[in-house]
Amino acid sequence: MSDSSSRDVVIIGGGLTGLSAAFYIRKFYTEKGITPHISVLEQSDTMGGKISTLRKDGFVIEKGPDSFLARKVAMTDLAKEIGLEQELVSQNPESKKTYIVSKGQLHPMPSGLVLGIPTELTPFLRSGLVSPQGKLRALKDFLLPPRREQTDESLGHFIERRLGPEVLENVTEPLLAGIYAGDTRHLSLQATFPQFAEVEREYGSLIRGMMTGRKPVETHTGTKRSAFLTFKGGLQSLITKLTEQLADTNLRVNTAAKSITELQGKYEVKLASGEVLTADEVVITTPAFTAADLLREHVDVRALDAINYVSVANVVLGFDKRDFLAEFDGSGFLVPRKEGRSITACTWTSTKWLHTSPEDRVLLRCYVGRSGEEQNVDLPDEELTKMVLHELKEIMSLQATPLFSEITRLYKSMPQYPVGHLEHIEQLQQELRAKRPGLYVTGAAFKGVGLPDCIKQAKELAEEMAGLHS
Ligand SMILES: Cc1cc2nc3c(=O)[nH]c(=O)nc-3n(C[C@H](O)[C@H](O)[C@H](O)COP(=O)(O)OP(=O)(O)OC[C@H]3O[C@@H](n4cnc5c(N)ncnc54)[C@H](O)[C@@H]3O)c2cc1C
Repeated sequence: MSDSSSRDVVIIGGGLTGLSAAFYIRKFYTEKGITPHISVLEQSDTMGGKISTLRKDGFVIEKGPDSFLARKVAMTDLAKEIGLEQELVSQNPESKKTYIVSKGQLHPMPSGLVLGIPTELTPFLRSGLVSPQGKLRALKDFLLPPRREQTDESLGHFIERRLGPEVLENVTEPLLAGIYAGDTRHLSLQATFPQFAEVEREYGSLIRGMMTGRKPVETHTGTKRSAFLTFKGGLQSLITKLTEQLADTNLRVNTAAKSITELQGKYEVKLASGEVLTADEVVITTPAFTAADLLREHVDVRALDAINYVSVANVVLGFDKRDFLAEFDGSGFLVPRKEGRSITACTWTSTKWLHTSPEDRVLLRCYVGRSGEEQNVDLPDEELTKMVLHELKEIMSLQATPLFSEITRLYKSMPQYPVGHLEHIEQLQQELRAKRPGLYVTGAAFKGVGLPDCIKQAKELAEEMAGLHS
C-alpha cells in the first residue's frame, strides 16, 4: 500500500531506458522523502534490452549497440554515479579514418566532414567520392537562400536541397542513415539532426554554418577527446552495474505486461501470466508498437503507430591475425545504398576498440539490413556468413577464413522517426498528462535512439515525476 510518503511504480521494459528510469526515480524520490516501491517488468529472460555483450576466448563481442557519443553527457554522468567511470574506454586514436565504398572500391572519407557535411573544402574537392558536377552542386549551398518555413521536412530532402543528390547519396546518407538503418528521405530532420535546420536559419549556408560551429573537442587536460566511448568489459557492464544499484528494486524477467487499466486514480497492470499489479504510476519504455497497444484504450496512439521499425542482422567474425597481410588503418567502412550490397557497414572492431580482441586476433562486425532492404536478415546463419564473406572479399580483398561467426538478428529494432514526429509525440504526451496523470511513456521511440538519449529521457521523466521541473 502506498501513502503520500511512498509510491508504487511499475516500469514496463527492462532496456536501458527502463533501468535508467528506475535508477533516477529511486534517487529523486528518495531525495524528496518519498519511498519508492519500484518494479521493472521485462518480457525476455534478461535485463538490458538491445544491449547484450558476449565475452568469449578473450573477445568482447557486442551483439547490439557497441559504443556511444561522448559529447552526449547523460551516459558519462550515469557512469560516474554508478561507479563505472574507470571502465570507460576511448576509440583507438590510430583508427580515426573511415572509408566509404564507391563503385565497389574503398575511399577514405575526406577529412573535415562533420556529421557528413564538408567543413574543409580542399579535402572535399580532392575526394573521389563525388564527381566534379556533384562538388559544384554542393558549393551552391553558399548561395542558396535558407528555407522560410519552420515546419519539419525529411533529412534526405534537406541535405539534397542544400548539397545536392550526390553528396546525399555518396557521403551523408551512409554516415547518418547508418544510425537508424533508415532511408533519409523518410526520416524527420527535426527528430534526428535538428541542428542542421538551426545552422541553415542562422548562417544561410549549411557548409558555412558547420565550418563556423566546428570546434575542436578537447578535454580539460588539453588533449583531444575521443568522439565515441564504451566500457572495457562491454556495454553489458553498464546493465550489470545498474541492476546491482537497483538491488532493492523488484526486477522481474520473463514478465510481459499485457494491458493497463485505470482505476480510481491508480493503475492495474495485467501481466501475460494473468497476475495483476496495482501502481500509483506506470512508466512504459517498450518499443513504440508495444507502447501503442498498452496505451490504445487511453489516448490517441497514431503518433506511435506511425513509427516503422527496421530489422537488422549483426554478423561478427573473428580471425587469426596471421591470415592478414596488412594492418587496418581505420575504423571500418560504410556502404551507400546505391552500391547494391547487403552489408551496410563494417566496423574493424579490433582496430577501433583495442580491448575487444586478443592481440593475435582480428574482430570484424558487419551490419546487414536497412529500411526497404531487410530480406537478407532472415537468411540461415551459414548463408548469411557466406554472403558477408563474399562481399568482404570483393570490397576489401579479404581472403581469410573466420575462426567463428556470431550472428544476432535484431528484429524490428530501429525506430524510424517520420516527418512531424516531435510534434505528434508532444501531442500524445500532452493528452496522456491531461487524461491519465501517473501514466508515462518514453524511450528510444521518442526523442533520440542513442544510448545517452535513452538515459537523458529517462532522467528527465524521473525529474518530472518527482516534481523537480516546477
Ligand atoms: C543493432 C543496433 C545497434 C545500435 N547501436 C548503437 C550504438 O552503437 N550506440 C548507441 O548509442 N545506440 C545504438 N543503438 C540504439 C540503442 O541501442 C537503443 O536505442 C537503446 O538500447 C534502446 O533502449 P530502450 O530501453 O529504449 O529499448 P529496448 O532496449 O528495446 O528495451 C525495451 C525492453 O522492453 C521489453 N518489452 C517489450 N514489450 C514488453 C512487455 N509487453 N512487457 C515487458 N517488457 C517488454 C523488451 O524485451 C526490451 O527489453 C543501436 C540499436 C540497434 C538495434
